[in-house]
Amino acid sequence: MIPFLDLNRLNRPYKERFLARLDDLVERRAFVLGNLVERFEKKWADYTGASHAVGVSNGSDALFLILEAYKLTGRLREGDRILVPANTYIATILPVVRAGLVPVAAEPDPQTLNLPARAIEQHTDIRAVIAVHLYGRLAVDEQVLDICRRRNILLIEDAAQAHGARGSAGKAGNLGDAAAWSFYPTKNLGALGDGGAVTTNDTEIARLIKILRNYGQEEKYNSRYTGLNARLDALQAAFLEEKLKDLDELNERRIRIARRYAENINNAQVQIPLPVFDGSHVYHQFVILTKHRNALQQSLKQHGIQTLVHYPVPPHRQAALAGFLHGDFPVTERIHREILSLPVDPYLSADEQNRIIEAVNAFKP
Ligand SMILES: *Cc1c(COP(=O)(O)O)cnc(C)c1O
Repeated sequence: MIPFLDLNRLNRPYKERFLARLDDLVERRAFVLGNLVERFEKKWADYTGASHAVGVSNGSDALFLILEAYKLTGRLREGDRILVPANTYIATILPVVRAGLVPVAAEPDPQTLNLPARAIEQHTDIRAVIAVHLYGRLAVDEQVLDICRRRNILLIEDAAQAHGARGSAGKAGNLGDAAAWSFYPTKNLGALGDGGAVTTNDTEIARLIKILRNYGQEEKYNSRYTGLNARLDALQAAFLEEKLKDLDELNERRIRIARRYAENINNAQVQIPLPVFDGSHVYHQFVILTKHRNALQQSLKQHGIQTLVHYPVPPHRQAALAGFLHGDFPVTERIHREILSLPVDPYLSADEQNRIIEAVNAFKP
């Protein structure tokens, strides 16, 4: 069986270093915040090019903390409307609701599966947009930057799937006002548990998020805001520091595999969203679209290939968001019916890649 993503293959190369870092932590006892978190924050800021990185508990909290920080500065107010892509993972939208803001969903471009600049243009009543670099493809270009600047719309990146992506407008995490990162184990940069970060060039937002992630305390035992405990774990920070060294190389492997798929998959039943191999898409997922999704998934399974569906149920069909997202989303619904993620594990062998290509090409509905 070719597994969808082999986390053993991804993490084993670091095992000795992970154990050394654990050993070091036991001796040094800096379990919460402190030196290890600060070191990773510095490295993550350098890597993304942003002036500040703040380590937090996970990607959902990263988005929530960004929104809360902007509420404290007055840039956002409760009830403000925030544009989100209708086809995103639900974790983009839950923090918007949790922060007392109103999510407004718009359909993606069927070629890129990302929000088109036009969608921002068409919404005249929004205060912010969450640009989701879905599946690893940058959702921010010069046009998006221009509209947001011109209309004074906050541009928040959901970069949870786009570690290391870089395009003409810049690098993920350094494109908008603030960016949310997740280091969930399966992401392009994944911890051995939950983790997240915010990157921003806004010193005040970075300062506020550092306070909010730590009970809203400006100094110990003095809570200025109703913050929460949303800190990045020190051990995860140490693990991430080790794995960061190989992020670019692993992304290159993903891109090479994606190119191979795009150049060799030729089944008339299968569409590949606009392929790009210039680093502006880091192929967190390699997705294809087909009217015969379930049959193809079944057929690949019989060939010993595990695939996944990202995502089976769109946000506007989720009970948690009933009453929050209004409108019809036919493009999003079609994507959710037709989409299938092929394995794009950076360590897939050439032979495994060939087997996947051949099995997709052999498929007949
Ligand atoms: C993973 C993910 C999140 C949430 O990150 P967590 O760390 O799991 O909370 C948010 N948005 C997108 C697009 C994601 O893929």
